[in-house]
Amino acid sequence: MRVMERIERAARRSGRDPKEIRLVAVSKTVGVDQIKEAIEAGVSILGENYVQEAQKKIDAIGRKVDWHFIGHLQSNKAKYAVRLFDMIHSLDSFPLAEELNRRAEKEGRPIKVMIEVKLSEEATKFGTEEEKALDLAKRILGLEHLSFEGLMTMPPYFDLPEMSRPYYIRLRELREKMERESIPVKELSMGMSNDFEIAIEEGATYVRVGTAIFGPRSK
Ligand SMILES: *Cc1c(COP(=O)(O)O)cnc(C)c1O
Repeated sequence: MRVMERIERAARRSGRDPKEIRLVAVSKTVGVDQIKEAIEAGVSILGENYVQEAQKKIDAIGRKVDWHFIGHLQSNKAKYAVRLFDMIHSLDSFPLAEELNRRAEKEGRPIKVMIEVKLSEEATKFGTEEEKALDLAKRILGLEHLSFEGLMTMPPYFDLPEMSRPYYIRLRELREKMERESIPVKELSMGMSNDFEIAIEEGATYVRVGTAIFGPRSK
């Protein structure tokens, strides 16, 4: 697959081991047949934005791949999220973390989480502010049934991929700041179809790529 080759090349160019970077194929609005084709081509992690939509696909495709949740999660969906997903990229508040922790305990299924960091006003409505991320991470570390894995961000859309770089640098610097405070930050989830190579140059360990794999979305 072309995207996989591009990931590998971007990794080598920046002196990184390509194995450090995992591709999350973002399959929102994409049908089951097309997802199966992508799995045939080597995709092993699918990213979904909506719980109900993901439920249908997971029922049809099963758990031979990992399913990651990358959309905005409402507390009332936490129960399903814990049942369905291996990783949540978009944790953005402590009340949501507590709810996920409670549900994960009930289900007997610990869940991996990343904090979504909002690095600009216009980027998205969601995510925790940069100044609050460190405190949130510390509090998540105290929750027994959540495993804190790292940080995620989504910059505003730019036609010029290079414009995303300052956001990815800031996420990397936030990771360094957390690690100085003895908070282990294993993963950086950053980079989408138009700028994943830039994100890899700045340290991404997960890239979330939709349209570059599946083509333009219908809705
Ligand atoms: C849709 C989506 C992506 C993928 O976007 P593309 O531009 O299609 O690669 C990545 N991350 C999140 C959070 C998304 O919602």
